[in-house]
Amino acid sequence: MKISLAKPGKLADENDLIIALTFKLKQDDIKQTTKNTVKTSPVKISKNIKELDEKLNSLFLSSAQDEGFLGDEGQEFITNTLGQIKAKSIGLLGLGDAHDQTLDSFRKIAALAFKLAHRKRAKTVGIMVPDKVTLPWFDIVSAVAEGLHLSNYRFDRYRRRDDKGFAIKEIEIYLPSQAIQDQKTALMRAQTVAQGVCLARDLINEGPMELNPEKFAQEAHKIAQESGLTIEIFDEKKLKKEKMNLMLGVAQASLMTIPPRLIKLHYKPAKPSKRKIVLVGKGVTFDSGGLDLKSSEGMLEMKTDMSGAAAVLGTMYAIAKIQAKVEVIGYMACVENGIGPHSYHPGDIITSRKGITVEIANTDAEGRLVLADTMTYAIDNDQPDTIIDIATLTGSIVIALGQKMAGIFSNDDALCDAIIQSGKMAGESFWRMPLTPGLKEIIKSPLADIKNCGDRYGGSITAALFLQEFVDQGIKWAHLDIAGCANNHKPYGYIPSGGVGFGVRTLVDYVMGQ
Ligand code: ZN
Ligand code: ZN
Repeated sequence: MKISLAKPGKLADENDLIIALTFKLKQDDIKQTTKNTVKTSPVKISKNIKELDEKLNSLFLSSAQDEGFLGDEGQEFITNTLGQIKAKSIGLLGLGDAHDQTLDSFRKIAALAFKLAHRKRAKTVGIMVPDKVTLPWFDIVSAVAEGLHLSNYRFDRYRRRDDKGFAIKEIEIYLPSQAIQDQKTALMRAQTVAQGVCLARDLINEGPMELNPEKFAQEAHKIAQESGLTIEIFDEKKLKKEKMNLMLGVAQASLMTIPPRLIKLHYKPAKPSKRKIVLVGKGVTFDSGGLDLKSSEGMLEMKTDMSGAAAVLGTMYAIAKIQAKVEVIGYMACVENGIGPHSYHPGDIITSRKGITVEIANTDAEGRLVLADTMTYAIDNDQPDTIIDIATLTGSIVIALGQKMAGIFSNDDALCDAIIQSGKMAGESFWRMPLTPGLKEIIKSPLADIKNCGDRYGGSITAALFLQEFVDQGIKWAHLDIAGCANNHKPYGYIPSGGVGFGVRTLVDYVMGQ
């Protein structure tokens, strides 16, 4: 599907379907006069659509009014043009109140336009953006294009060919003359970011037999070549040499057949930067729970336990393509938490790379072990000023926040605020959770320096407190627990069912803002 900007002055009616996005109208924005002509406020209904309305004998807007179209969020009015103009159908989609406009309202409306085009089987679509907006045009064009690209995602590699259905060929975005300048960069950026998200979605949706750590590393290798990132892949021997015993402990059950891989991608900007940001993603390609085996129900979606690593890969791809100004190093800690005669056990005491000894209280709390060693390695080797880890870490965060919001824990207010703000721009919600000092008691071990989990209460917080033990003083750190948002059951807006690619757009926005 191609998305482009309509050339100035081009008539929208050369498309199969025309959709005009419209803010909420006041009653007197559409006034019907006796001669069946409509006077509309120049602010609310775009000039383009009024021109088309004239060609339709001014019946289009008056019918919209008759049907009670007022531009409420998500409201739709669509009609057949019966051969009066070239386009077969023409419609209005409501954006809601102009005072509450957010970038996400443009993404969501783009998703609705996409669905409408599918319903109408329109191969070519013209989308008209309102004449007056309060947000920067660059961001609006990006948001509309992003919403369209993200809606166009399908994981259909296992579907038979004849199952694949209808596809839209081209969507043109019509902008008012004052906005036309060069918005091509906005389109490019939206496409790149959406590619990063869809890359993550593909990896999440793939089964664990197909996407094991080695395959993940191969995918990362392809992406590195395509986007000019340098890549290092650590196999089990290198992990042993680097004393990453926590990660190896998790990997042990599957070591011979499904060995772990730590993947490091390095992005260096053209001009050297002072900032150095490390991203660490949990890449448990399948989490059986280990000897503390999960229930069937609990295990069902555990192929998605690598969503953090997928988000890091998607982010690295996008920031390299759109050339961020800061240095970013992305780690994907990929391992299967399997089960077998070599499984690590509850009761094992493992010395981490950092030297902290960890009593394994539950083999299903493996994500934090993998992240801990990886963060230590990153701190030792890259001396970052900022570390952001992203992981489907705990069920507790899902209990606390539900499935439409991720938890963020941080030792730095400014970093935390910046990520939450980036999330708002991206339409991904984060809620700050506390690093309650009093709960450290829970992960104290009588035998070792620390244990990998405590009781159920405050489980997402104790997981974060565990990770914090591995973050050196002076390093800004944020931990994103995306367990609730990584995998979606019921599609909505531009979010499909299955892998969401959650976090990519927030992290790209954060990095690009530095
Ligand atoms: Zn687990
Ligand atoms: Zn896990």
